[in-house]
Amino acid sequence: MPALLIVQKYGGTSVGNVDRIRAVARRCLASQRQGNRVVVIVSAMSGETNRLLKLAKQIAEIPDERELDVIASTGEQVSVGLVALAIHAEGGKAVSLLGHQVRILTDSAFARARIQDIDARAIGAALDSGKIAVIAGFQGVDKDGNITTLGRGGSDTSGVAIAVALKADVCEIYTDVDGVYTADPNVVSNARKIDRISYEEMLELASLGAKVLQIRSVEFGMKYGVPIHVRSSFNDNEGTWVVPEEKAMEAVMVSGVTATKDEAKITLHKIVDAPGVQAKVFRPLAEAGIVVDVIVQAYIQDGRTNLTFTLSSADLARAQDVLIKQCADICTPDQIKAESDLSKVSVVGVGMRSHAGVALKMFEILAKENVHVHLISTSEIKISCVIESKYAELAVRALHDGFELGKR
Ligand code: ADP
Ligand code: ASP
Ligand code: MG
Repeated sequence: MPALLIVQKYGGTSVGNVDRIRAVARRCLASQRQGNRVVVIVSAMSGETNRLLKLAKQIAEIPDERELDVIASTGEQVSVGLVALAIHAEGGKAVSLLGHQVRILTDSAFARARIQDIDARAIGAALDSGKIAVIAGFQGVDKDGNITTLGRGGSDTSGVAIAVALKADVCEIYTDVDGVYTADPNVVSNARKIDRISYEEMLELASLGAKVLQIRSVEFGMKYGVPIHVRSSFNDNEGTWVVPEEKAMEAVMVSGVTATKDEAKITLHKIVDAPGVQAKVFRPLAEAGIVVDVIVQAYIQDGRTNLTFTLSSADLARAQDVLIKQCADICTPDQIKAESDLSKVSVVGVGMRSHAGVALKMFEILAKENVHVHLISTSEIKISCVIESKYAELAVRALHDGFELGKR
């Protein structure tokens, strides 16, 4: 087999203890001994990033984001050192590299930074000297030298972005499940592993709650055509290939079911329906950095309308505050109704483009379970319903069964 350049990303559970770190070292070396050049991206040990963020919050309720990134990024520093040591212990050659040592350049949006450029030279030098390059995921550096992090689950994005920068043949994402499933296998016991999934479907699943890949990693893969192979670090099974859409994928009406947590909704009741009213509501929210999702406006009567939108629960209190302070000419405080503990449950599949009745079937399944649908939003390849969080798992299981996803 010709030598390949392989990027392997290992998630938190895969490096969760010393034995697992040794197993990772052996796997990397096995790949290298087959004649491949191997670059490894590592996450913090499982639970570590949460622990670090919690520590910071014990000192400051709303910690300074720059300092938070300095703290949160250390979990990956420990992991790369340990993995490099484990490779040495197995008789191999390896060098650990942090984000700033590679020079993974990002913007300065702390806690959600975006990668702008990756310097491939330090990695290339390590590979040229026969070493495995062990790179810290999740972290980068901005143009002023500040440490940044890429958002939760960001090591996936580090992995795929480095694969792009190196023009790697494949980016392997090693995790604690065998691949991408028709639903979260930890929620739906008969969820089935998908062999091949399109970038587009994976993008939807990732953005609608399937945390197996961070959405930005899929965007990178799709934009630059890097095949992503999601697989387990606990066995040698073939995982899921995320690839450009193939003809056969259209035959499948729904590929997966997923749900988000921690959503909230705000309704502005009976506000005046005049041109520009929406901009007046959403401008101050946008300026406060609040991301809104599903937006529905329904005409009531006498020139009055209800404007409803969803947002992350974490932003709810702030959003209400912004509306009360900055939209007083549009609504009084008692016209603003808020609700939290909502979830968005979605079915995703490129086959929807050519199959009728998918939405109907989804509504029938939810109706049978007596689940109240608050809001609906659709795109060409997904249908989402906002429901009460306490029914989310029930809805995911019912949809998974109703669309017979466990079968094929
Ligand atoms: P890692 O630490 O390796 O990055 P994550 O916990 O971030 O792993 O992602 C893997 C988890 O994603 C799985 O344990 C699983 O519970 C969850 N998950 C959610 N939806 C899916 C899905 N459709 N397919 C596979 N895993 C999923
Ligand atoms: N350690 C980071 C997190 O927990 C990044 C990652 O695991 O991908 O979010
Ligand atoms: Mg992850």
